[in-house]
Order: sequence, then C-alpha cells, then structure tokens
Amino acid sequence: MATTTETFVIVGAGLAGAKAAEALRREGFEGRLVLIGDEPERPYERPPLSKDYLRGETAERPYVHGESFYSENEVELWTSTRVSGINANLRELWLEGDQRLSYDRVLVATGAVPRRLDVPGAELDGVHYLRTVADSERIGERIEQGQRLVVVGSGWIGAEVAASARQKGCEVTMIEMGSLPLERVLGPELGQIYVDLHRGHGVEFLPETTVDRFEGHRSVERVVTHDGSSIETDFVVAGIGVAPRAGLVETAGVRVDNGVLVDEHLEASVPGVFAAGDVANARHPFYGRHIRVEHWANALKQGPVAARAMLGKPASYDEIPYFFSDQYESGMEYSGYATEWDEVVFRGEVAAHEFVAFWLKDRRLVAGLNMNVWDASEPIRELIRSRRSLDPRDLVDPTVPLSGLAEAEPALAGTDALSAWASEGGAL
Ligand SMILES: Cc1cc2nc3c(=O)[nH]c(=O)nc-3n(C[C@H](O)[C@H](O)[C@H](O)COP(=O)(O)OP(=O)(O)OC[C@H]3O[C@@H](n4cnc5c(N)ncnc54)[C@H](O)[C@@H]3O)c2cc1C
Repeated sequence: MATTTETFVIVGAGLAGAKAAEALRREGFEGRLVLIGDEPERPYERPPLSKDYLRGETAERPYVHGESFYSENEVELWTSTRVSGINANLRELWLEGDQRLSYDRVLVATGAVPRRLDVPGAELDGVHYLRTVADSERIGERIEQGQRLVVVGSGWIGAEVAASARQKGCEVTMIEMGSLPLERVLGPELGQIYVDLHRGHGVEFLPETTVDRFEGHRSVERVVTHDGSSIETDFVVAGIGVAPRAGLVETAGVRVDNGVLVDEHLEASVPGVFAAGDVANARHPFYGRHIRVEHWANALKQGPVAARAMLGKPASYDEIPYFFSDQYESGMEYSGYATEWDEVVFRGEVAAHEFVAFWLKDRRLVAGLNMNVWDASEPIRELIRSRRSLDPRDLVDPTVPLSGLAEAEPALAGTDALSAWASEGGAL
C-alpha cells in the first residue's frame, strides 16, 4: 500500500494520465502526485478535434477536468515539460533542461504521435497532421475558408477530417493506398459503405494511390501521385497512422514492442513502471495476448485501472475494445477486436445507414458495428464475451433481441480457438 511520503508521477497529461490522477485521489492516495505533459494545455480529449471542434461548432476546448480540479485535488500539473528518460534503478525521471525528479511509481501515459510522410515537399507549409488542439485550430482555419483539401490516408482521422471539411464546403480529394476507406479494421464490406458515404457527399476518393511528392513555393500547391497525376490543392491533411511514444522508457530497460509491454495489471517489465492508453501494449486476459488500442474508451478506462495497480490494489484490464466515429450524419460504434473472420452479416437497413454489422469467426461473434442504431454496443460486447456459438439467422433477424442471445445456451469452453485466430502485431 502507498504511503503519504511517496511520490507518484504520471508522464503524459492526456486522457489516460488525467483519469489516472483522478482515480489515484479517489482511491485514497495521499502522497505527492505530479502529472507532467509536454503540451501547453491541461489534459483534453481528442475526439472533437476532427469533429465539432474542427468545424468551429464549439469554441470550448474539450478539457478533461475544470481548471480548479488540479489544485483542489493537489495534483501538481507541469505543462510544457518533456520527460526525456527514466532511470529505474534510482527511480528517477530526467526532464529536459537536466532537471531530475524522484518517484516511487511512475505511469507512462505518453500516447502516440502521427506517422509522417517521407516524400519530397513534405516539409512545405500547408501539409498538416492532426493530433493536438493546436493542429485542429490550424486545420480548422483552412477549412473555414472553404479551401481545396487533399486528405492522404482514409483511416479514422482522414475519413473524419474529409467529412468535416465537406460539411464546411471544402473541395475534398481523399488518397488511399489500399482499395477502400477503413478497410484495414473493417474489411471490404464496411469499406464499401464508407466509400459510398464519402462519394455521396462529394468527396473524390482515389484508391490504390500514393503520394510521390508535394510541390509549391513555400506553401503546398499540388500533390503529385505515383502515376504522375497532379492534384491542385490549398492544403493537405495526412492521416497515415500513429506510432506509440514509448522512447522514454528505453533508458529504463523496460520491454518495448509496439508500445510499452505491460501485463493485465498494466505493470511493465520493470517494477514500479506502469503504462496506460495509446502507448500501452497490454496483455488482455480475454484474448490471451497483448493488444494495443488507440481509442478514447481505452484511455478513459485504463488510466483508473493503472491507478489501482499503482496502489497495490486488485486491478486487471479486460474491457472488450470499443470506439466510435462520426462522419456526416452517420454515427457508429464498433466493439470487439477482429483480425480474422469468415462471415459478416447485417441486421437492419444497410442502404439507409441504419444497421448493425456482425463479424463471425467459427460462428462466434468477434466484433460488431452499429451505425445510427443505438443501445446495441453493450449487448454486442456481452455476446463477444459469452463466446457462444451463434446462428447467423438470429443476428440478422431484428425481432430477436441481441441481449437474449448471450444467455441462450451454454458458452463454448476454452479460449484456444480465439487465441488461434488472433494474429500478432498492429493496433486497433
Ligand atoms: C483527432 C483525433 C480524433 C479522435 N477521435 C476518436 C474517436 O472518435 N473515437 C475514439 O475512440 N478515439 C478517437 N481518437 C483517439 C483518442 O483520442 C486517443 O486514443 C486518446 O487520446 C489516447 O489518450 P492517451 O492519454 O493515451 O494519449 P494522448 O491523448 O496522446 O496523451 C498523451 C500526452 O502525453 C504527452 N507526452 C508524450 N510524451 C511525453 C513526454 N516524454 N513528456 C511529457 N509529455 C509527453 C503528449 O504530448 C500528450 O499530451 C481520436 C484521436 C485524435 C487525434
């Protein structure tokens, strides 16, 4: 159990870090608590940065807590401060400027950083990436002027930025190296729905296309693709994935593999070091393997679990992954973790974008997505967790309540089949 003389440090003042600080005080930690972040802002949530905040529909920054929360809870919030390394033997953090800070337990909640394009002209003004509130404000100014935009990559960030920009009247071209938007996670069936959605809203979608170079005088003026075609533009947003920011633990000898490797209690390979949120590649008891999830709900819930574990209390993270996305008038929630499936079935009106999609592997539900249909994600997670053998006809039939299916018959025993389909690497 922690004592009042101990110092707990959280590196990374994002959602996971802020929620961990809140939970530490709620769980009764009375020692010194320092929350360190390299951004000038207090912790905020990122989902609005590609949605209403980007479109200027709200001027309020989406802070996790009110300003007074930190002083009221005696959380020392150090903003604009970067931690450059950890000495786990001395239990000491190195801060930029040669400052040191001793800790008893440290939580690494440093998130992820956008991958950058490595092509000629990538450094030109007007080539943007989206991670921070400052990025969102810069891109938002361009969008407000209704300029021409090329989006590189049609993952979640690219797809949401394209939708927001179209909603504000920009001319949008989306370049994708694969065939369809969001195909890596959702597969071709859902990818087709999303390409129709974007094209239906006037986005020019270019599949199997990569950027050869950007051209322009100081600011980007055109994108030249691999086949020599050129697209005139006023600005570019690249959403080509993120990399976990795990560099600072390497000096501590902590095991890193696609993020900070942690066990189900979110503790790393070196005692006293924990990790949560986008940076954590955590052993998941349900899936029987490590998974790294780059989504809001994971950061929200892992922070408090890490806090309990830091206090030596029983804590294990076994939530079924969940995320949401809003594009135009289509909101969706996805639950599960599907890397392989043999069948996708639909309930509802696909053409009207009011449906639930189910991914099945050996008749077990591995993931579900509900678009413009609400109250489905909880039963979907229960069904996944139940590991029941399902009849796809029940999933398709809107008169069969999803919540009833999880209790319909005994679960199939064992996790072997599940572990067998789960392939290593990557993040959701
Ligand atoms: C534009 C955008 C839209 C999104 N929309 C959705 C959505 O619709 N649905 C969804 O489920 N998820 C969404 N996400 C993902 C979600 O926001 C992330 O999963 C979540 O922010 C992860 O939280 P985190 O606390 O782990 O990391 P972060 O929010 O990245 O916070 C980590 C913080 O640590 C700081 N830091 C890093 N290294 C250091 C260091 N060495 N020293 C000090 N500080 C450091 C970083 O600067 C950052 O402030 C979105 C993300 C973005 C960028």
